[in-house]
Amino acid sequence: MLNKVLIANRGEIALRVLRACREMGIATVAVHSEADRDSLHVKLADESVCIGPAPSPQSYLHIPAIIAAAEVTGADGIHPGYGFLAENANFAEQVENSGFIFIGPKADTIRLMGDKVSAKHAMIAAGVPCVPGSDGALPDNPDEILKIADKVGFPVIIKASGGGGGRGMRVVEKKEDLLKAVEMTKAEAQAAFGNPMVYMERFLQRPRHIEIQVLADEHGNAIYLGERDCSMQRRHQKIIEEAPAPFITPEERRKIGESCTEACKRIGYRGAGTFEFLYEDGEFFFIEMNTRVQVEHPVTELITGVDIVQEQLRVAAGLPLQYTQDDIVLEGHAFECRINAEDPYNFIPSPGWIESCHLPGGLGVRVDSHIYQGYKIPPNYDSLIGKICTLGKDRAQAAAKMRVALAELAITGIKTNAPLHRDLFQDADFLQGGVSIHYLEHWLQERKEKLVK
Ligand code: ADP
Repeated sequence: MLNKVLIANRGEIALRVLRACREMGIATVAVHSEADRDSLHVKLADESVCIGPAPSPQSYLHIPAIIAAAEVTGADGIHPGYGFLAENANFAEQVENSGFIFIGPKADTIRLMGDKVSAKHAMIAAGVPCVPGSDGALPDNPDEILKIADKVGFPVIIKASGGGGGRGMRVVEKKEDLLKAVEMTKAEAQAAFGNPMVYMERFLQRPRHIEIQVLADEHGNAIYLGERDCSMQRRHQKIIEEAPAPFITPEERRKIGESCTEACKRIGYRGAGTFEFLYEDGEFFFIEMNTRVQVEHPVTELITGVDIVQEQLRVAAGLPLQYTQDDIVLEGHAFECRINAEDPYNFIPSPGWIESCHLPGGLGVRVDSHIYQGYKIPPNYDSLIGKICTLGKDRAQAAAKMRVALAELAITGIKTNAPLHRDLFQDADFLQGGVSIHYLEHWLQERKEKLVK
């Protein structure tokens, strides 16, 4: 097993990894920027190393500083969390070349799945259903582009192969606008990702975002832990997630889950991963794979009882998974609300000093958060300050528990989006289940219009 793990991240996920390590008797090293000296994971870690000033390019993204910290502390593994360097193939490679274990897939796998065109090719070859679209990158010839679009059918979406974080995408409604849109997306992709390659997909009108959690080891075992519904999004950012996804039948789950584990075996996947799909009219369409632990992993942990981070650590150490597919039984229903330090109406970030902080608790309530009374949220990083999850015997009970938990949550000194979550957990359509990825944007638009009146 690993002896000492360096956590190359901050905030709630650094704390999540730290807890998993401590339970397993693995020593921990926190690395942090100058702005994060007072962070909870720094206080709780066995050792800590300051790796640079607040801006992330000089600290959490600074590969030589992280590797040097692993060397001086004698860590044997590095956990990247999510965000920052978690899906950076060069980082994974440098970690392993420096003699440490990267707690994630092999660098080549990250590279393959990080490029959306190559990821889609690999998935088509593995028999995973994809959104109908161009066969790989779009050619330069305008006539050929028009021909492809006619075959795919309007509206289409032009997506950057190197894109991520909801950027580098453009929807095209009619043929007249196509060529200009392709040119613009290419130019943007080149500027933002250093790769002008773009591809085309049919633009689905009312899909849901449903994703499959997988775990795989180096001994040829791969399992799926059911699905999560993450359709509640604002600007392609998830804000509420749940597991299982409403109205997905056991047969649908088994079929899509098996195609994901089959794909894992084909690409030699290792560790935890997520296959993201759009789901419309009973069909799944692959959009991308995340080769890391995700923000929303706790809802899956709650309904399966599997500690996903501990399985990551075991697999990284070369051990086989502790579970077979037959061991995975979904029980109950779980929700997650992402709590952000931001204005709940205009979404402007609200960093600063936390004057007081009361976090909810009780049966079926899980809170993952690094904040505490007196903590100062630095302005340099994303606004996620914690996640509240609830587990109920069914969806209605999980929602009821969430209403109580959100009512108990009391943070002063900064603004949070808790009022938004409170309103959403009163909303009839959301509570019905199965809303599309556009639902929240429409809901916010309507709220804005009401407030103006
Ligand atoms: P990123 O890596 O930037 O997150 P994704 O490929 O995962 O990009 O897409 C992000 C979001 O964009 C999806 O969750 C969905 O809301 C929307 N989207 C992407 N592809 C399509 C499509 N073919 N049809 C409709 N919406 C799409």
